Amino acid sequence: MLCLTLTGKSEQECLQQIEKSRGSIDLVEIRLDLLGHVSADTVRNIVTGSRLPSILTYRRKRDGGAYDGGERQRLSSLCELVACGVTYIDIEEDVKRPELEQKARELGVKIIRSCHDLEKVPSDLYARIVKLKKRGDVAKIAVTVTCVEDLMKLFGARRELQSLKEKVIVGMGEFGIPSRILYKRTGSLFTFTSVDGKGASGHLSPRIMDGLYHARSVNEDTKIFGIIGNPVMHTSSPRIHNPGFHLVGLNAIYVPFLVDEVRSFFQLADLLSIKGFSVTVPHKQAVLPYLGKISREVKLIGSCNTVLRHAMMWKGVNTDFYGFLDPIRPLLDASRIRSAVVVGAGGAARSVVWALRNHYCRVTILNRTIERARDLAAQTGSSYGPLDDHAALESADLIVQTTSAGMPPLEEIDPLEGYSFSKEQIVYDLVYKPRYTRLLSRAAEAGCQIIFGSQMLIAQGVLQFESFTGFNYPEGLDAELL
Ligand code: NAP
Repeated sequence: MLCLTLTGKSEQECLQQIEKSRGSIDLVEIRLDLLGHVSADTVRNIVTGSRLPSILTYRRKRDGGAYDGGERQRLSSLCELVACGVTYIDIEEDVKRPELEQKARELGVKIIRSCHDLEKVPSDLYARIVKLKKRGDVAKIAVTVTCVEDLMKLFGARRELQSLKEKVIVGMGEFGIPSRILYKRTGSLFTFTSVDGKGASGHLSPRIMDGLYHARSVNEDTKIFGIIGNPVMHTSSPRIHNPGFHLVGLNAIYVPFLVDEVRSFFQLADLLSIKGFSVTVPHKQAVLPYLGKISREVKLIGSCNTVLRHAMMWKGVNTDFYGFLDPIRPLLDASRIRSAVVVGAGGAARSVVWALRNHYCRVTILNRTIERARDLAAQTGSSYGPLDDHAALESADLIVQTTSAGMPPLEEIDPLEGYSFSKEQIVYDLVYKPRYTRLLSRAAEAGCQIIFGSQMLIAQGVLQFESFTGFNYPEGLDAELL
């Protein structure tokens, strides 16, 4: 079940949030601490208007909520409002108020015993859940996940606490997001969402949880794929793979994993039987020691963006190489591109330079840090220079922008600011958000043929999808949504 935490300040705002999410949620959490005015009428109207089961919660500041008044007042409000037709009441683990529990029981309201750790995952996580369950109908623990190892403990609960049926395990923070999307794999009865993400750290909206991830449909047979990176939540890859699985009719899900240590992620991948994953900055080299098999491109480039389970080992391939080539292949085949300038000397530039050199293109690498350009040039048989090497730029058929300049927070930066493009040149920017970077807008104004980063993103994603699933990517991907 997906639970919508209501973050509206008024009854009307809460009812609007419910309507916006209808169809994607199974229950609502009424957060008294977020409401501007707490009254029995308000609670009753939300319960009736929602036409869904509901949880009554009055969260204190120290547990991550907004209530900072007296405890006596809070508990007496809960005592009064539990009679407003709610299905569950959330009572924190330290609260000892037998009359509140008794009243809830008399009214047939189920008790959620909850515990929050805003700093860490406690070492006695499983024992705490068992203890909570003894004092309520549902045990709920919300803990702050600060690394992949923490996340493993949350997913481990499913096996460790198999016999404990009604429990809710929530991983807060960005590291915890997979435990929300894959809540069923932690053994949780439900997970929380909010329309604006303001309900708690790491909340996704019901539209994303249901519309993109189909989190409620995950079952024993669901094949898990994902992407690892740091940061990772900005990535558009879930918007390529999840709709693809859906269109093909595959029971599979693709989840973003914020990863601090690649070693721990490989352990998590075994625990969750992950079938394959994409790799983004900064882990493209760090995964190499864990791969039993690598493709020719990975060997050449020294970086891997796709890892697949292959027999009893992990296999690494690089779809950036072919994804980059895809939009310019006809131009290369027609010998329209013989020389190129590659701006940047980072991970993406490595794939680009090798792909171009493989097609017998003359390449000059221009980079802010000249030593990095020199090193990559030496490895690939290219030339190199600084960003203002206008002679190199003027003689290039193709200019490829591979730096992170142009992408937030560097969206105002154009690494070739002082250079005027000639209309015969083809300009390719790997940055895909925004679609038009400053550099690409200037190239379009100069009359150049331009190639968007999203074209490469889709092409490399489609190749990944095919390696993951064995299926051709289906028609119907809306590139505008990336
Ligand atoms: P990276 O390894 O961190 O390399 C970053 C590059 O950007 C370096 O050359 C760095 O120069 C340069 N740079 C950073 N800030 C700069 C600035 N203010 N001015 C000039 N140069 C600057 O990153 P990466 O993996 O290569 O990724 C780079 C970009 O490619 C990202 O925007 C990524 O999203 C994009 N990308 C797109 C696709 C796609 O499918 N479209 C695929 C892969 C990557 P120094 O050496 O001087 O630091």
